[in-house]
Amino acid sequence: MADKILAVKGMNDILPPASAHWEWLEDKLRTLMNGYAYRNVRTPIVEPTGLFVRGLGEVTDIVEKEMYSFEDRLNGEALTLRPEATAGVVRAAVENNLLYDGPRRLYYMGPMFRHERPQRGRYRQFHQVGAEALGFAGPDVDAELIFLACDLWAQLGLTGVTLELNSLGQVSERQTHRAALIDYLSANESLLDEEAKRRLHTNPLRILDTKNPAMQDLVNAAPKLMDYLGEASLAHFNGLRAILDDAGVAYTINPRLVRGMDYYNLSVFEFVTQDLGSQGTICAGGRYDGLIEQIGGKPAPAVGWALGVERLLELLKEQQRLPEQPAPDVFVVVPSAQAALHAARACRLLRQAGARVQMHAGTALGQGSMKSQFKRADGSGAAWAVILGEAELADGQVACKSLRVNQEQIMLPLGDLGTWWQRTSQADAA
Ligand code: ATP
Ligand code: MG
Repeated sequence: MADKILAVKGMNDILPPASAHWEWLEDKLRTLMNGYAYRNVRTPIVEPTGLFVRGLGEVTDIVEKEMYSFEDRLNGEALTLRPEATAGVVRAAVENNLLYDGPRRLYYMGPMFRHERPQRGRYRQFHQVGAEALGFAGPDVDAELIFLACDLWAQLGLTGVTLELNSLGQVSERQTHRAALIDYLSANESLLDEEAKRRLHTNPLRILDTKNPAMQDLVNAAPKLMDYLGEASLAHFNGLRAILDDAGVAYTINPRLVRGMDYYNLSVFEFVTQDLGSQGTICAGGRYDGLIEQIGGKPAPAVGWALGVERLLELLKEQQRLPEQPAPDVFVVVPSAQAALHAARACRLLRQAGARVQMHAGTALGQGSMKSQFKRADGSGAAWAVILGEAELADGQVACKSLRVNQEQIMLPLGDLGTWWQRTSQADAA
């Protein structure tokens, strides 16, 4: 036998039964997004590399070391598997004029690619669901996006998801703060680790984000961006806080929350859980008023968030909030090859009447004893078994046996299966 070919490291197959949880979650998200008037967008997985270099910033983790980039074989164009979707959504909105002539509240779902060290909650292909509101400047829309996420946690029955909030101000405010930060960190250079030394003059704000325990005291005492915000930035921040306070949404202000991408300004936020170990951020976002202009559109403000689907599912599992497997309504038991034709007809009638039907397969080849089929019927979780016994079929009859409540069994003509199911499901619903 040839060697097995395995999936790429850090990229996962999503198989039954877990895939049912994905579908369930995606359904919930679609309904919720539509309830907030966010419309679905689907952009390409491959984008020009320049989109991310320009959009995310050259000295970000993603652009420095996490992108899957390659050259188009024909024309040498530099391409990249999208590491995130905001840049692509903004590109699409600008390219298709959505900002002036289309829906400006958008959401997406899909795979992202980052070359990171695979570990729990961190994969090389992972999935995000994101919401973006383009062209709105006020903190009311920042709040709307936060409400959207809070509603999701509530609908999913999750507990212990906390909101952290910060303001990054505007570029000029960041520059003043950056200078103060570089002064402070330079004065303490002996306390910096290698990564921090490297970032000192490229992206000192990211040093505040360090996970190195030895540097926590140092960064805790560093100059805070919040103290460098001008009046307009503070007004935006306080405006957001007022709306959240009024709605009773709890949050903590985390002055060290800086986010990985350069494009953020003003509000930034993360939803965090303690239940997932060190990969505890399940949803993150903020305002990115400069991005649209940066990638070639007319200047316009914007705000959005993205959540990590793998982490959210892991949290749902941890808190035992995942639903049972979806079961068929009816399992069709086919004891003999002679019944195979009737079985196809029975399934057709039941499905036309709206039943979810799983047929025992293989009978036409003589596979599956009555006993093993009943075992499978039970294992499927179906509420009913429809049995196409030979003797009964000779009279045109089939048996419907309840697998749940009282094991009741009734006989009826095969041709009546559709009306039987309609009656039964209506009675169940009542
Ligand atoms: P981190 O600090 O954990 O690397 P990030 O700032 O790079 O996160 P974002 O780019 O903001 O993450 O992505 C939003 C969300 O997507 C994260 O909060 C997380 O839930 C999820 N996410 C990001 N990277 C990964 C990954 N490699 N594997 C799985 N989920 C991820
Ligand atoms: Mg990251």
